[in-house]
Amino acid sequence: MSREPVSVLALYIHIPFCGKVCPFCSFAVLKDNPARHQKYLELLKLEWLLISKTLQFDFSCLKSVYIGGGTPSRLKLDELNGLVHWIKQIGKVPGNAEWSIELNPEDVSDEYAQELVSLGFERVSLGVQSFNDRHLQSLRRQHQAAQSRKSIKALSKAGIENLNIDLMFGFHGQTIASLAEDLQETIDWNPNHVSVYSLTIEPKTALNRNALWKTWIDENEALIASMYRSIVEKLERAGIFQYEVSNFSRTGFESQQNLVYWQCRNYLGLGVGAHSYCNTARWGNVKRLIDYQRAIESENLPRDYYEELDSTMRRDEDLMLGLRLKSGIPLDEFFLKHKIPASVKWNNYLEALEQNMLVEQSSGQLKLTPKGMLLADEISSSLAATLS
Ligand code: SF4
Repeated sequence: MSREPVSVLALYIHIPFCGKVCPFCSFAVLKDNPARHQKYLELLKLEWLLISKTLQFDFSCLKSVYIGGGTPSRLKLDELNGLVHWIKQIGKVPGNAEWSIELNPEDVSDEYAQELVSLGFERVSLGVQSFNDRHLQSLRRQHQAAQSRKSIKALSKAGIENLNIDLMFGFHGQTIASLAEDLQETIDWNPNHVSVYSLTIEPKTALNRNALWKTWIDENEALIASMYRSIVEKLERAGIFQYEVSNFSRTGFESQQNLVYWQCRNYLGLGVGAHSYCNTARWGNVKRLIDYQRAIESENLPRDYYEELDSTMRRDEDLMLGLRLKSGIPLDEFFLKHKIPASVKWNNYLEALEQNMLVEQSSGQLKLTPKGMLLADEISSSLAATLS
């Protein structure tokens, strides 16, 4: 066991159960069966015991506890209560850590919302996706817009101030006008945080077999780009500012969990498919519950992969994650930290990116422009390639 405890800044717990598996979803999820909840919660505890034998963790600087999924709101209140109490025992979580949970609208009642508050959750991420029932149906979501509205009211009545509304865009059937309606309704609900993800068609998902949806995305690149621009414009005009490619908040309501990820700081994930990043290593757990259970019951860590990051990988990770943030990366600090010579070959390349209005530099920060945000991964990969 390593002698120095790893100072963990964010803890992630994955709850894989969903009322129904959405056709576009590539997360570690499975159709809910409430009879499996207790067993899964026990497995989480065993995973913690196993990993604690290999590494020591220090939670005294923990900024965030995040229960994500899947759909954590499939857990009954007494199950959630047990989970929260267990987390508080293992980690001695500091009083000022942000507690977040993801909910789906069909699960939220007044009682559920009130209980979340008494358990200490102050930030809720609600999987609204759209307020348009036609879109919700074509995305094969389980809920209807009326349930999202009811949930938002219940959460607000319970005193949840830090609400994230999770939306999707860029899918077959959506138009600029219907997106504008979704954005307007989102703004009217006055949330402090909004996440907006474009639909991507991932391998091994049901949507990957749908030629119509795939072709629509391929043929509508320009429309999707203009949808993205309208999202940034409309939310920012409403005082909900972009701080990452897909995330927007009112000042002071940025997700603490997300910031830890994008600033390449230490986080620990427990559960099926959960990822972790600790000092110079990162790993991910297996994505199938059966594999997770078998590994743990044989007293093995349920790892899908584990890698030690060398200096090049750490540099590229810093670049890729840092550029996703609206604030960008502090160039001098980045060059110094990664021992990149002042004569770095980026100069001409950056000029070209600036001329194409993909990046900008101000006060020593290198940032993506709104146009560049859409190509964040491509730009950071090409910048990294010029350093190698
Ligand atoms: S509810 Fe969310 S996590 Fe579950 S299958 Fe649908 S998109 Fe995936």
